[in-house]
Amino acid sequence: MTLLADKTAVVTGGAQGIGLAIAEVFVKEGARVVLGDLNLAAAEAAAKELGGPAVARAVRCDVTNASDVDALIGAALEAFGSLDVMVNNAGITRDATMRTMTEEQFDQVIDVHLKGAWNGTRKAAAIMREQGSGAIVNISSLSGKVGLVGQTNYSAAKAGIVGLSKAAAKELAHHGVRVNVIQPGLIRTAMTEAMPQKAWDQKMAEIPMRRAGEAHEVATVALFLASGLSSYMTGTVLEVTGGRFM
Ligand code: NAP
Repeated sequence: MTLLADKTAVVTGGAQGIGLAIAEVFVKEGARVVLGDLNLAAAEAAAKELGGPAVARAVRCDVTNASDVDALIGAALEAFGSLDVMVNNAGITRDATMRTMTEEQFDQVIDVHLKGAWNGTRKAAAIMREQGSGAIVNISSLSGKVGLVGQTNYSAAKAGIVGLSKAAAKELAHHGVRVNVIQPGLIRTAMTEAMPQKAWDQKMAEIPMRRAGEAHEVATVALFLASGLSSYMTGTVLEVTGGRFM
């Protein structure tokens, strides 16, 4: 299948984990991708694995910095001539209960997720509006739906991404630009591998499907939202959770 033939996609936080899995699926479906990540060396290695400069490029980008996001999108336009799909995926965690969370930890997480997604959404929208087409996929989290202990920063940011995406979807729908959200549950990546075994086991007990998800299983949903398969969907939130907190 070539659901994204001749399309150009930008994926933030694309050097590893869910972002890289999304880039892999997109390239298999005919897209050219530009990976934006804090870690340029890892993004370059990933782009090489994906097939090299004809299909994948890497750019150092801190999503909290609007000019970095401009440069990332500019690189996609320069290399491949369009911007058809924008995936705002970059993320961090700084977990702590409110009793111990520092203001800096709160601000960092809000900045990367919420400001980062806002930067990516509005910069991509500016290009896509002119083109009269485009799909934006924002990565939230189940934590933004239900709120999780130790994540007042992350839950707030991930819930904020839903509000931001719905508002943007309404602003952009008549320009042919769709904005949708994915809320993954427990997915096996570097972000979750750092978790203590006890916390992992507690989460597993909440999952009706009784297993963690793989990054690829989020990526195929991103493909659905990025492609014409979801042509009449905007402002939606799709949960990829194995049924957890349904
Ligand atoms: P990951 O493996 O840690 O990958 C995140 C990537 O984002 C890393 O390459 C990281 O680079 C990059 N990044 C961090 N801050 C950035 C910034 N300011 N600008 C640009 N790139 C930045 O995490 P993941 O599990 O794939 O998570 C991807 C997304 O899914 C995140 O938004 C996360 O919140 C969300 N999510 C994950 C899960 C899960 O269970 N894994 C569940 C729900 C939602 P560095 O390595 O250099 O920091």
